[in-house]
Amino acid sequence: MSSPFSITIHRGTHVIGGSCVELACGESRIIIDLGKPLMKPGGAELDFRPYEGLSGPELLDEGVLPDVAGLYEWQTPSVDALLISHAHQDHSGFLNHVHPEIPVYLGEGTKRLIAITTDFTPTKTRLNNPVVFSWPGSFSVGAFRVIPHLVDHSSFGAFAFEIEAGGKRVFYSGDFREHGYIGGKTLDIIADKCAPGVDALLMEGTMLGRTEETVQTEPELADEVVDSYKDFPKALLVYQSGQNVSRAVSFYKAALKLKRELVLDFYTAHVLAELGQCSGGSRLPYPGNLSGIRVWYPHWLMEHMKREGRWDLINRFARTSFKMSRNDMPDRLDKIMLYVRPPMDFDLKEISGIGGSVLLYSLWSGYLKAGRTKSFVDKLQSMGIEKHIIHTSGHAPVATLQRLVDTLQPKKLFPIHTLYPKQYEQFGVSVQELNDGDEFVV
Ligand SMILES: [Zn+2]
Repeated sequence: MSSPFSITIHRGTHVIGGSCVELACGESRIIIDLGKPLMKPGGAELDFRPYEGLSGPELLDEGVLPDVAGLYEWQTPSVDALLISHAHQDHSGFLNHVHPEIPVYLGEGTKRLIAITTDFTPTKTRLNNPVVFSWPGSFSVGAFRVIPHLVDHSSFGAFAFEIEAGGKRVFYSGDFREHGYIGGKTLDIIADKCAPGVDALLMEGTMLGRTEETVQTEPELADEVVDSYKDFPKALLVYQSGQNVSRAVSFYKAALKLKRELVLDFYTAHVLAELGQCSGGSRLPYPGNLSGIRVWYPHWLMEHMKREGRWDLINRFARTSFKMSRNDMPDRLDKIMLYVRPPMDFDLKEISGIGGSVLLYSLWSGYLKAGRTKSFVDKLQSMGIEKHIIHTSGHAPVATLQRLVDTLQPKKLFPIHTLYPKQYEQFGVSVQELNDGDEFVV
């Protein structure tokens, strides 16, 4: 008789962000995702700054780090592996606390994104024992066989995981959608590669309860930019996450149609050029790969990278014909789509004639309520730059969630990464609602 296969969701049964799942079979244990929480229990927003300086054991005491025995650097390791679905901080942000002997399985894009974040920001991640898995493919860890399935998401190279052990199969969706550039294929690939009738489906439900949010496809978003700004006489400023490469592709497509050059800040240019080296990245918009792309060097980012001594990163594009300086911009405002983010208002003030330009705001609208995003957008408004919110979610709306359920036909559906587990009843299969830390034998 085979050993029982159990599931424990350490965090994520009733919140979005910071998901952490443990699977156990016999003596084998694997953990999926280990991210920073975005919410307190109950769903109120969690400001992580007060926890920034705390040690691992202190974070565990505070309930911020999930209580997983044998996972952390100060413990005797007893976990076989950690799997990371994608690079977003709420799925990967606690890697520094993992015991250095425990292998961390992740995709090539995720590994590169984690390295870029370490290079460019104060978030420094040590990956002591990374194992890059290949896709398509599978790998074994202890009693488990793991099959990664590429999914569309707002982070490049995101994966769902199908995991077999003891004659049972569990599917972890991670964060996903189907309205991006590879999205149409996401569920087809899963349908093709994963037999229906999985024993357990752990499925994200970020969009449940967000009924007011419209879900455009990425190509529709690009079309909206083109339709809105034909013959616009000033600059189009773009504020998006530098790591959301699908969005950069959308803005690049729009820029081409509007006959504008895409002027990336050198951080975003580096992200795209690095991911361009991954499989699936050959058509990403970065200088030298596709036409009509330039790079600029915002003051604060230059100063930060100089302090870090990272001339290698600065010089990647600085001494090439792709560089565009601030002084080049006033004469060509109607010919550029310029990447900006806080605190680049300093640079924008130095560009004469910038008033009357528009800010294409392409992040979740919740960030506009407070903090540095709000103050940046307010400063631009005082310079005569109005915002146009043009954004679509990285997560699956209800219809897509239903398609995944129909494709996998799970015997049990487990809510995760959601504020609304009760709404899973609508998917028409048996729902197993857990609380954080409950162990469930499949
Ligand atoms: Zn994500």
